[in-house]
Amino acid sequence: MKMPEASFFEWQGQFNTEIDCLNHIKKMRWPNGFMCPRCGCEHAYELTTRQLYECSQCHKQTSVTADTLFHGSRIPLTKWFWAIYFLGSDKGSISALRLSKLIEVNWRTARLVLSKLRTAMGHRDSLYRLSGVIEIDDALVGGKRKGKRGRGAAGKTPVLVAVESKGKKAGFIAMQVVNRVCHDNVEQFVAKHLTIQQEVHTDGLPALNIID
Ligand SMILES: [Zn+2]
Repeated sequence: MKMPEASFFEWQGQFNTEIDCLNHIKKMRWPNGFMCPRCGCEHAYELTTRQLYECSQCHKQTSVTADTLFHGSRIPLTKWFWAIYFLGSDKGSISALRLSKLIEVNWRTARLVLSKLRTAMGHRDSLYRLSGVIEIDDALVGGKRKGKRGRGAAGKTPVLVAVESKGKKAGFIAMQVVNRVCHDNVEQFVAKHLTIQQEVHTDGLPALNIID
């Protein structure tokens, strides 16, 4: 996974305000336009001030963040998006303490954010399906011992990471904890997070070569 330094500024530009983040969530949740979760109707009124959609048929109101991990959170979306960025650029290994300093929240909040993001990233459809060119890599997280760095380090949990690579833009990430990095796990990960015929770059790990 390669995240160039410049991507920090790209990210800052892309997710600078709450509206930027909300628009992004909208695009990711409803890539083909809004669809009512109750009746499937595609026509809705957008109540922009409240970030709600109201179905023109059954009048159900759907919040943009409903059923996402951002729902009901008291911290701004911009902080969530920075957490995603830092989690991604650290290959998932960032500590709650460090994140708390970076996004200026208390340690408990940072721990909750990290736990929610890590859980979401391991579940189908809970974050985003990645599109475009994907960089895929494995990373190792957790473990208290200072094992040797690299694959199979002692006491670490392997995590598969996919990053949408758009030139210098960081794009989006998907992560999943696996018991080991093997063909089956990589295959499942790819099926879960990537769309068909996506161009995939790997760092040459044999288990990742199935997707070349
Ligand atoms: Zn409806």
